[in-house]
Amino acid sequence: MTRVGIVGGGQLGMMLAEAGARLGIECLTLDPAPDSPASRVAPAIVGAYDDEAKLAELAAASDVVTYEFENVPVASARFAAERVDVFPAPEALAFAQDRLLEKTLFEDVGLAVAPFSPVASKEELGEALEVVGVPSVLKTRRLGYDGKGQVRLARVDEADDGWRSLAEVPSLLESFVSFDRELSILSVRARDGRSAFYPLVESVHRDGILRVSTAPAPDVTPALQAHAEAHALALMERLDYVGMLAIELFQVGEDLLGNEMAPRVHNSGHWTIEGAATPQFENHLRAICGWALGPTTLTAFSAMVNLIGRMPTEGELLGLPGVHLHPYGKAWRPGRKLGHVTVVAEDRDTRDRVLQQVTRTADNLG
Ligand code: AMP
Repeated sequence: MTRVGIVGGGQLGMMLAEAGARLGIECLTLDPAPDSPASRVAPAIVGAYDDEAKLAELAAASDVVTYEFENVPVASARFAAERVDVFPAPEALAFAQDRLLEKTLFEDVGLAVAPFSPVASKEELGEALEVVGVPSVLKTRRLGYDGKGQVRLARVDEADDGWRSLAEVPSLLESFVSFDRELSILSVRARDGRSAFYPLVESVHRDGILRVSTAPAPDVTPALQAHAEAHALALMERLDYVGMLAIELFQVGEDLLGNEMAPRVHNSGHWTIEGAATPQFENHLRAICGWALGPTTLTAFSAMVNLIGRMPTEGELLGLPGVHLHPYGKAWRPGRKLGHVTVVAEDRDTRDRVLQQVTRTADNLG
């Protein structure tokens, strides 16, 4: 029996453990919360992500260690990597945790990004405003997620307040992109260097939080798909990457700009559980365990809706055709993802019709 240790016990850890059970892989998680979502389906070590005794316990009980969110301390990943194989390698985490390193990496592999400038002081913010201008977005370099740690600047005179609201931590100023839409490319690379890509996903965010993903993204030309795959491949090869990698992109005309990457399974890939030949969770485990990857083809027109605010009652959604409800078993907090719904259908029109009903219900919850 292969044993996989997962740093983090949130819903991604839970869905990894569920995929593991189907593959005969035993998953074990490390999370500070005694009632983490993953603890419902797999054994859990309760402890902080930087608790070396707990990390050593996780490493000793695992053949390979991975993580389910990108703010795991790099030092913890390195500590585990001294004891057991860790995939993706801690270096990928270091890039994903710092927007400046991440954007520089994107540019290095030829993925264009919105014009940006680093900001470490009020003076540098003034200089950055001259280079980048407004409208723009001031983002903290570290610890930003789901729209947190960023503030939009419509006018130059909003900059001082914006800088203060981010607690004057190292940041960067990025030009506001009038994108046509947001896409993500979900890719996976195995230990032997083989890679695979899912069809581009279209994502709609509200207040910085992912609301709806649609797969396949409508009207994707083969050239656009190939363009996204080439960038993902270049990034994975540059990092000698192993596991699932998600890259969030802005589409402007036929051009793609890199926004950010997640070195893990990703919310925009949850539809793959019901809508693809191999779920992203299974392919992540196959990759890190050194197994062959599974096919990434779509098996249905799919969509995913995040449930934020309140979980629907069973009667509200489960009667709809092709609807799958995934509760995470988490307590309510404002803006917290409590679960998701996947819609699958044989044709696009049916998918869209059911999706509309699901989003209407989800909007009433949030
Ligand atoms: P992020 O945390 O960088 O992924 O940002 C969360 C969301 O905010 C993105 O998915 C976009 O919807 C929006 N956003 C972030 N940066 C920009 C930008 N430079 N221009 C326009 N919208 C942005």
